[in-house]
Amino acid sequence: MTALPVLVLNCGSSSLKYSVYEMRAERVLCSGRIERIGEGGADGGPPDHRSALAQALAAVPDHDAIVAVGHRVVHGGEHFHAATLIDDAALATLEQLDALAPLHNPANRLGIELAREQLPRRPQVAVFDTAFYHSLPAEAREYALPQAWRERGIRRYGFHGTSHRQVSREAASLLGKPLEALDLVTLHLGNGSSATAIRGGVAIDTSMGMTPLEGLVMGTRAGDLDAGVLLYLLRAGVASHELEHTLNHGCGLHGLCGSNDMRAVHALADAGDADAGRALAMYCYRVRKYIGAYLATLGRVDALVFTAGIGEHDARIRARILTGLEGFGIALDAARNAACHGTVGMAIHAASSRVAVLVIPGNEELEIAREVAALIAT
Ligand code: ADP
Repeated sequence: MTALPVLVLNCGSSSLKYSVYEMRAERVLCSGRIERIGEGGADGGPPDHRSALAQALAAVPDHDAIVAVGHRVVHGGEHFHAATLIDDAALATLEQLDALAPLHNPANRLGIELAREQLPRRPQVAVFDTAFYHSLPAEAREYALPQAWRERGIRRYGFHGTSHRQVSREAASLLGKPLEALDLVTLHLGNGSSATAIRGGVAIDTSMGMTPLEGLVMGTRAGDLDAGVLLYLLRAGVASHELEHTLNHGCGLHGLCGSNDMRAVHALADAGDADAGRALAMYCYRVRKYIGAYLATLGRVDALVFTAGIGEHDARIRARILTGLEGFGIALDAARNAACHGTVGMAIHAASSRVAVLVIPGNEELEIAREVAALIAT
């Protein structure tokens, strides 16, 4: 077995994404996505996650050759600081974290349990969205809360860490410098959006918090919000489950103008829709605010990095975020920016720019496969 195939699973509440990587050349051997799990109906997906995984494995040629399975797990809490080989004890610890990420972790954990069942004797490795942020210094990690609350694990954990770590590595190779010598601000702008300040390859601050609700304006999440707003709504009789649903699915671009798809938001704004125009302005303004905060946090920055759906493909948003930052040594090359669609890593800054501006295609699955390969090689 020379190809060392690693299966990467991203098991969500109603979907299962899978890809198999051959780790010598870091090539995708096959990949797919199974949707509408458990939704019933004639044209629905498989009845449950167990049959979804069986369906995925049936679509993987020679799945007996898989040497290890990597699982994307959203929340690692205070327990998991790095990719972890999952045994019964680790699984039990993971279960205790369900309350921190009720929308994601239970499904991630189910994926691990089913993969142990259907691919026995293979190492199962959990790769956590939060792990990249275990190094946050206390001043960035903690909320200014009483000790009794902080002792309950209420703190900033950060998310999208696998993505921020992957693009920081690619940025170093694009710039031809060691990651340890670089200070970066990475911007993951997708349906969920987050910003991270990275010093010498180590994350020192990030915009998402104890949950993925904090920080930038997102497709359906508001990002930064005065906690008093929640108290006001609770006092006004909004039920907590409604609050949870709306905070996760009804805010952000969707709440502002009715669509969470940035392409549709542009189309509305171009057609004169004032709500969509304001949504775009708010989206970009928030990103600028975080860039400014992280320039100050880092003191100096070698590069800004854009990734994920909007970051990779949306030249107008990139331009709008960065216009007027010349005073900070950040200048775009308009033509390079307009020509960049995120298919390969590319620099889009002007020759005069002190700070490099890079667009780097995200590949979280490959990063997960790399972490798995590194762990099982030790
Ligand atoms: P997820 O967080 O669900 O993985 P993605 O990283 O795929 O999301 O990003 C989804 C977002 O990217 C959506 O808002 C979508 O409209 C936007 N997007 C994708 N392609 C383009 C494009 N060509 N131009 C502008 N926005 C785009």
